[in-house]
Amino acid sequence: DTRQLIAGNWKMNGSLAANEALVREVAAGLVQAGAARAHAAVCVPAPYLAQVAALCAGSALELGAQDLSCHEKGAYTGEVSAAMLREFGVRYAIVGHSERRQYHGESDALVADKARAALAAGITPIVCVGETLAEREAGRTHEVVKRQLAAVIHTNGHCISEIVVAYEPVWAIGTGKTATPAQAQEVHALLRAQLAAASTHPERVKLLYGGSMNAANAAELLAQPDIDGGLIGGASLKAQDFLQIVASAR
Ligand code: 13P
Repeated sequence: DTRQLIAGNWKMNGSLAANEALVREVAAGLVQAGAARAHAAVCVPAPYLAQVAALCAGSALELGAQDLSCHEKGAYTGEVSAAMLREFGVRYAIVGHSERRQYHGESDALVADKARAALAAGITPIVCVGETLAEREAGRTHEVVKRQLAAVIHTNGHCISEIVVAYEPVWAIGTGKTATPAQAQEVHALLRAQLAAASTHPERVKLLYGGSMNAANAAELLAQPDIDGGLIGGASLKAQDFLQIVASAR
């Protein structure tokens, strides 16, 4: 399936009332758009999975989570397992988002364990990689994203064609400063080459770009040869903006 994937990451936003209005409008918009040119998914806070699963039923909108435990079950207070997510029809789980690496101290090794836990339960991990502004300015972008991806693809025995990778430069997240299409494409080409060396089907791994993607800049980013979709934060909270991004898929 070579269609692009447009995934919304609501982060810690939403309410029962707001979710209902947003998902109904997005789902209806996808129907109107006819045969989907892109996959569309929303990654929602865990307490809303049941609500959004019900709202997505019968529509083309797919469901994702924003995180999961690396453990299967047991004494891990506050954690949510992959099997629990699976029970709600979750198809994707974001792992290693920069906000979790930054505020929750998640290491490359933990991110790899989480990706493996997702795969074991039949959930596709959306593995996030990306450099900080300081790392970019120090010329370390390639080294950082290669290290982050290597941790995931070299420690798991699973076929790595089952993962999605999201390149999200930290300096572009929530800042309105998007990477230029050329900057994003350059890193995506690097990640594609790294995947090609490690996978039997590198072409099946979707490489998403994330960081201030919006209705106005989506088309030129999504037109890049190695950009297979987007991971959308702020703009995924507005139905018409999100639908416009889905409609911008090539
Ligand atoms: P913004 O689209 O709000 O910049 O967020 C990007 C992101 O972090 C998606 O995971």
